Amino acid sequence: MTQIRVGIAGAGIAGLTTALALSDRGIASTLFERASELSEVGAGLQISPNAGRILEGLGLTTALDRAAVRPEAIDMRSGRTGEPIVTLPLGDAAARAYGAPYRLVHRADLQALLLEAARSDPRITLNLGAEATGVSQSADAASLTVNGTEHSFDCLVASDGVRSTLRDAVPGASPARRGGRTAWRTTIPIGAAPRDLPHERTTVLLNRAAHVVIYPVRGGRLINVIVVIEEDWDGPDWSAPGDADILRRRFDADSTRYVSRFTDIELNWTRWCLTEVDPRGNWVHGRIALIGDAAHAMVPFLAQGAAMAIEDADILASTLAAGGPVAEALQSFEALRRPRVTRVWRTARQAGQIYHLGGPMAVARDLTMTGLGGQRLLERYDWIYGWQPEHGASG
Ligand SMILES: Cc1cc2nc3c(=O)[nH]c(=O)nc-3n(C[C@H](O)[C@H](O)[C@H](O)COP(=O)(O)OP(=O)(O)OC[C@H]3O[C@@H](n4cnc5c(N)ncnc54)[C@H](O)[C@@H]3O)c2cc1C
Repeated sequence: MTQIRVGIAGAGIAGLTTALALSDRGIASTLFERASELSEVGAGLQISPNAGRILEGLGLTTALDRAAVRPEAIDMRSGRTGEPIVTLPLGDAAARAYGAPYRLVHRADLQALLLEAARSDPRITLNLGAEATGVSQSADAASLTVNGTEHSFDCLVASDGVRSTLRDAVPGASPARRGGRTAWRTTIPIGAAPRDLPHERTTVLLNRAAHVVIYPVRGGRLINVIVVIEEDWDGPDWSAPGDADILRRRFDADSTRYVSRFTDIELNWTRWCLTEVDPRGNWVHGRIALIGDAAHAMVPFLAQGAAMAIEDADILASTLAAGGPVAEALQSFEALRRPRVTRVWRTARQAGQIYHLGGPMAVARDLTMTGLGGQRLLERYDWIYGWQPEHGASG
């Protein structure tokens, strides 16, 4: 059993999964979370098989299945007419091929089930209302200052999200950059959603300079809607209540007729400024590692941000459990993760460009997708969904 002491700052998806993955390998950890209670932050999350398999490996299959909807498919449609472009099949065959189903969850439900598992785990100490404000390290230890008290560990994991302040403790870490796009998120009670909307699958509507992603969460009782538009919104915060009239004006033209069925419903929208952290910056310094969005926040067009955080947690736990000096284990974590995360990060950016094409380019895109067909389109993502930890990295 490896007897190292690990401190984790931030109990989001990355931090909680890291604590559970460490415990799975016999390593105890202490989590510090700024929020005094973990509430309904965020909206839907698509949890693809590469991440689902890791969560299942941590004994969370039943809890996940209770919280999640398993979509039959992803439908890509025209945002003007609603006409189908292509359907990517995600049913049982895909679950068998990738070793886990594709799942749709509410972020709060995923965080709650991770939290419950962490709370009932004697190797995990959870501190809420515990804001980490400073980090320091010596040759022998790394220290985290929380509410004015210093806590010393062998290894410190900074999983404090895209707005990470602990990132400053890693020289050469990439800064967070806002990218000229906003994501508008809301949920619609199932009874208020347009009746002809397929409720058991993910629907993606493609428009010039915009797209919309719609899928069920909470056992199908709510429909999660994300509208991404290109706009230079520079609010004081990175998320805020969104004025629905801005969306309505954007989608009132004939070219966006189908989308307007969602923006016309009276709903509470939250507006997020999409923000990236370039994964080519440093993630590790001595005994300190950045993981998840703190290290490499990406645009959500492949639905892989939380998935990459979950993969990080698995690999970090494995490299630490392998023994040896902590600093070397963190270096090998970074070396193992960077190529894959960088490829996913870039591919997510490209997906955004493709989704937002207009005019003849959009027509060409739709014809190509239709011609390729859903199965072959899905196979293009085999490297994401079918990923296995590299030999020697799994615990
Ligand atoms: C519109 C949109 C849609 C998305 N859809 C998907 C999707 O379908 N699938 C997917 O995989 N990903 C998706 N993502 C990305 C996903 O939400 C993030 O990648 C993921 O939540 C990152 O997890 P994290 O744990 O790194 O950070 P976070 O979830 O942000 O957690 C950070 C935690 O740290 C805490 N914290 C912050 N500072 C401190 C401090 N100083 N001390 C202590 N605690 C602190 C915070 O309170 C928080 O609990 C989407 C993102 C957006 C914007």
